[in-house]
Amino acid sequence: MRIKVLGAGGSEVPGHNCPAFLVDGKILLDAGTIAVSLNIREEHSLRWILLTHAHLDHIKGIPFLLDNLVTRSTGNTITVLSGKDVLDDLKKNIFNGRIWPDFSKIPTPAHPVLKYKAITRTRSVQIDGYKVTMEKVHHTVPAYGYVVEKPGKKSIAYTGDTGPTHRFWDRMAARKAKHLIMETSFPNRLEKLALASGHLTPSLMEKEIAKMVPTPEKIFIMHMKPQYLREIETEIRALGRDNIEFLKDGEVIQI
Ligand SMILES: [Zn+2]
Ligand SMILES: [Zn+2]
Repeated sequence: MRIKVLGAGGSEVPGHNCPAFLVDGKILLDAGTIAVSLNIREEHSLRWILLTHAHLDHIKGIPFLLDNLVTRSTGNTITVLSGKDVLDDLKKNIFNGRIWPDFSKIPTPAHPVLKYKAITRTRSVQIDGYKVTMEKVHHTVPAYGYVVEKPGKKSIAYTGDTGPTHRFWDRMAARKAKHLIMETSFPNRLEKLALASGHLTPSLMEKEIAKMVPTPEKIFIMHMKPQYLREIETEIRALGRDNIEFLKDGEVIQI
């Protein structure tokens, strides 16, 4: 799989965009950044968005993507998948005809640019030849991680935002995902804040890795708060693990 990093930041400052990872040009893992990072051709190939949760830094690319597609009359439909609780939040609080139009009826109710597809933890779904499995993670709002598999290719697991958790690691192992994109938001000295806000620090992350059996071949770190970037990177390097990489906006990883 080819994964393009549209944003890997834990917030938004110049040079750091909010989380969004484009898999093989078609499937987006989270949607914090879309239209400012993709060219028109890439924007038109995008079909599916897997949302981990409804926090603004993970959804805020969607409103402008949809606006662009309708303005250009592409006829595309973007299907947003997540748990029902996450999709309900989007419908009620964003695409509610007040904050932003209800794009599930635009340009026409019969052929809208936005479709919602609620999925559950108990059943994997097939989208475009990929098998997608969702599992709960631990955050301050309903939140899910994903494993995306394609026959004959290595699969990828993605946590989104999470504090200490366990189910997701079991699910990742069951799906035999050897590559993991996971969060580490705060430095060790802010552990209290990290735990209260459903996030990880390098030392909490190390404890999570100890729960993973087997340990992933590669772990890609995202969602570092730009304000603490150097501190977090230094603390992660001090763990001495050679299977950890830091994701950078704009880079492409091939797994
Ligand atoms: Zn969040
Ligand atoms: Zn976040």
